[in-house]
Amino acid sequence: MSSAATGTTDTLTPVLTAGWADERSWTLDAYARRGGYAALDKAFAMGPDAVIEAVKDSGLRGRGGAGFPTGMKWSFIPQENPNPKYLVVNADESEPGTCKDIPLMMASPHTLVEGVILSSFAIRAHTAFIYIRGEVLHVIRRVQAAVAEAYAAGHLGRDIHGSGYDLDVVVHAGAGAYICGEETALLEGLEGRRGQPRLRPPFPAVAGLYASPTVINNVESISSVPSIIANGAEWFSSMGTEKSKGFGIFSLSGHVQRPGQYEAPLGITLRQLIDLAGGIRQKPDGQGHELKFWTPGGSSTPLLTAEHLDVPLDFEGVGAAGSMLGTRALQIFDETVCVVRAVLRWTEFYKHESCGKCTPCREGTWWLVQTLARLEKGQGSEADLDLLLDQCDNILGRSFCALGDGATSPISSSIKYFREEYLAHLTHGGCPFDPAASTAWA
Ligand code: NAD
Ligand code: SF4
Repeated sequence: MSSAATGTTDTLTPVLTAGWADERSWTLDAYARRGGYAALDKAFAMGPDAVIEAVKDSGLRGRGGAGFPTGMKWSFIPQENPNPKYLVVNADESEPGTCKDIPLMMASPHTLVEGVILSSFAIRAHTAFIYIRGEVLHVIRRVQAAVAEAYAAGHLGRDIHGSGYDLDVVVHAGAGAYICGEETALLEGLEGRRGQPRLRPPFPAVAGLYASPTVINNVESISSVPSIIANGAEWFSSMGTEKSKGFGIFSLSGHVQRPGQYEAPLGITLRQLIDLAGGIRQKPDGQGHELKFWTPGGSSTPLLTAEHLDVPLDFEGVGAAGSMLGTRALQIFDETVCVVRAVLRWTEFYKHESCGKCTPCREGTWWLVQTLARLEKGQGSEADLDLLLDQCDNILGRSFCALGDGATSPISSSIKYFREEYLAHLTHGGCPFDPAASTAWA
């Protein structure tokens, strides 16, 4: 995993990534040297409601993909409900191409822990859970070590900093299912059941963990809170665009010269980010390859092409271009990649990860793979393209959760932009691309 690119141009705004290159950046000592945990006393003096107001005023929107306003979500917690309130951090990062939360937790776990304390204080929770994807044992160990350090230093536990506020944090390891990143399936898993989504509403803010009011936020959202409290809502909202405030981590992978995490204001364009990443990869003769297609936020967001290089990467700009900002997982593919093959690989992933609860997704993703595989081998017919779109139609908006909808995104968008390439498989009798030309799927 590449480290964050920091400070190379004015376009970058290293805040979350600022200390990643520091020696042993993940330790409490390193975090304290950067002013870590100073926001706690400020928040304790402000009081919980003022912390919620500050996060609302900052304009921070959920960084897990959907962009729901974070402060508003916190204010939905019904304080009159006598049940305990819970904070759950969704650290089950699994969206194909998404690689921001894991490096964040590895390089600066204390930013997350400080954010957990501030956020729990705001919603008046005394127990918080960090639900980490089970496959990444090294990350789980790192966050556990940070939590232990925070307890030993008096940042967690009883009467934190003499404020009278108590908080316990539990680090929980998931068990390897993509669906457990869906917030209600995550809660099922946390309660010890099979990870399958629950019907919403009620939303978790009203009835979440153990049927109690629960805020579920992504790692990056929670990690943004310490800087908002330390520097003020205005500081945060002065960055970004009118409706998409602040900064975020953009993860560039695939065919760029320097893949990695680039922290920048929302609204930056892919053209600017590719420049920061040294351009599209070069051929051995020094000539550049060309951008063919890309995902703005992982494979669940519709593909875009070179004509979208100047789309502002904020919730509104990407939405207007017919896609979604999602997790800002920018997977870059050059002209050597067969789009049909790439889409087939993603669709196989969704078929494998479908939890089976609802028919459109369970059966539909199976049929999508059958039809796509036939086309990829050049054995189908042109009518299969309409069949594929019809199958997508029967999944999109008819599935129980966002996984089913997401599975259709790469298919319908690739047919929209690359219909000719699908047809070329039929005339060629198979894939017209040389797989050796691309390293993307090696
Ligand atoms: P959503 O828009 O339904 O909900 C977003 C958040 O807002 C949730 O926490 C939800 O509880 C809350 N919310 C929405 N309406 C509410 C209301 N009326 N009252 C109270 N709370 C409300 O989106 P979603 O289905 O939770 O998530 C879909 C997103 O997840 C996609 O945009 C995708 O980009 C992203 N995703 C991320 C990953 C990853 O690895 N980070 C993986 C898959 C998908
Ligand atoms: Fe499960 Fe897929 Fe239905 Fe979601 S859409 S509930 S993952 S079967």
